[in-house]
Amino acid sequence: METNTKPIEGAERSLNFIEEIIEKHLADGGGAIQTRFPPEPNGYLHIGHAKSICLNFGLAARYGGKCNLRFDDTNPVKEDVEYVDSIKDDIKWLGFDWALERYASDYFEQLYDWAVQLIRTGKAYVDDQTQEQIRATRGTITQAGIDSPWRGRSVEENLDLFARMRAGEFPDGAKVLRARIDMGHSNMLFRDPILYRILHTSHHRTGDAWCIYPMYDYAHGQSDSIERITHSICTLEFAVHRPLYDWFIQELGIFPSHQYEFARLNLTYTIMSKRKLLQLVQEGVVNGWDDPRMPTISGMRRRGYTPASIRAFAERVGVAKRDNVIDLGLLEFSVREDLNRVAQRRMAVVNPLKVVIINFENVPRGTGFFENSAFDGRTEMIRCVNNPEDENAGTREVPLSREIYIERTDFMEEPPKGFHRLKPGGEVRLRYAYLIKCEEVIKNEAGEITELRCTYDPESAGGNSSDGRRVKGVIHWVSIPHAVKGEARLYSTLFNKENPEECEEGETFLSHINPESLTMSEIFMEPALSEAAVGEKFQFERIGYFSKDSDSTSERPIFNRTVTLKDSWAKQQK
Ligand code: ATP
Ligand code: MG
Repeated sequence: METNTKPIEGAERSLNFIEEIIEKHLADGGGAIQTRFPPEPNGYLHIGHAKSICLNFGLAARYGGKCNLRFDDTNPVKEDVEYVDSIKDDIKWLGFDWALERYASDYFEQLYDWAVQLIRTGKAYVDDQTQEQIRATRGTITQAGIDSPWRGRSVEENLDLFARMRAGEFPDGAKVLRARIDMGHSNMLFRDPILYRILHTSHHRTGDAWCIYPMYDYAHGQSDSIERITHSICTLEFAVHRPLYDWFIQELGIFPSHQYEFARLNLTYTIMSKRKLLQLVQEGVVNGWDDPRMPTISGMRRRGYTPASIRAFAERVGVAKRDNVIDLGLLEFSVREDLNRVAQRRMAVVNPLKVVIINFENVPRGTGFFENSAFDGRTEMIRCVNNPEDENAGTREVPLSREIYIERTDFMEEPPKGFHRLKPGGEVRLRYAYLIKCEEVIKNEAGEITELRCTYDPESAGGNSSDGRRVKGVIHWVSIPHAVKGEARLYSTLFNKENPEECEEGETFLSHINPESLTMSEIFMEPALSEAAVGEKFQFERIGYFSKDSDSTSERPIFNRTVTLKDSWAKQQK
């Protein structure tokens, strides 16, 4: 499969440092570029991975190269096919396609042969020390490590022991294969790094064929080299590994892949370690990897984020050389921007207050009777625009009747100055329909407002009023007898601390869980929404963007609030 070649967003901005490197590579006759995205299948992908995906696949697309998907499956203990499948789904959903699908485990035989080659040239040896002993003798930044007593083994003995490690003669932890480099090296990673450990564990692809598994540092660069990766792009914490990456390639005399590091994505109010995300799932803090509060791609998909919005976000974040933290508001801004373009508008009321339009006579089966409804009072069909941002989105008809719900917050009995919505004696426009005037406020014994009695001006349809008067407030509404009742799931951040990892003594990141990250609410929707498909996205006018959730049933549609309409990020930029 070819990498998709559609241009990515933002092609007009100046080059980032990796693009500069690539353009120089191309200008110097370096040939077509080859990148890869190398997830470890030990969890679901998150927005940080999305950044890396957009970068690796995006660069290949922009420069006519290819990008492989390579699963870094060298640790059978934590890996699973469930994760492999979800990772593939997520990449495709984001809009990318890989040239080759590869697994580090495809290369186990080759990696083994190269280890034998290193033993032969005296660059690797079998060590009988325990992992603890190895750790304890590594030294410190200021102090050299101590040579292993097994460092001087002969090539023959090492070849024999390594073959027997592979054959399964030794239990887990009994021996490791180490590179023989320099126990006094200033880069700690060069102090005889471990290349192979014994793990009698079934692997999700190779089964029980292997009981020794290569370490990341040994497997990664060589896998890149096998795939002739020209630009191996990873996050900054691997910068210190780069000399070792180069060392193996040099010692083995294989294709010279090069590693380049960029700053990982960090987001406010967000945790981005798979290990911690797994903990949230396992401890039931969230309802699975695709919980709409999770920063996973599957969670964001379920919440209603679009692939285009995530790609645009990645483009906006850019590629930095220094670590930084991005405002979650920038992601929401990108989501809002895309949904504003593509989402149809609907009316729904989350916090209902009943309004009776007293002069809207309830003559049965009047003109414009709404055919599909059991309601046989007078219904008038109101023509509403589906998306003012998109002429092609057309219009729809929404039934209006004598009894409607409006948002409780759109009425105030004693409003402050500047309140343009409904108040006693005041007038407001029902979106796309008539002006109504509040004539009477009905309360229960507890003094709570239960109903408003209003009149409407029959001459005021479509933005006109009989005497030309204008009102500032426009509110949304839903006809009660036609309303579809459902559930709205309103989300806020999963953590109530900007940096959830910042902990006082005795705290963990779990101490900062926001107890109000999910609130559920009844919602009354215009009837068109009964036909919505799971995953379909709408703007509920004046409330926010919503996406129909997969938990919906035919009796009870459920909508996730993807993002509110309020744009705090854009305001900050002014
Ligand atoms: P985590 O720490 O969340 O478990 P990881 O780095 O172990 O992430 P991998 O599956 O090894 O996860 O990552 C695959 C690729 O995604 C790597 O190239 C890695 O550098 C990149 N990546 C992971 N997290 C981020 C992030 N926050 N920002 C940018 N790239 C990331
Ligand atoms: Mg990793």
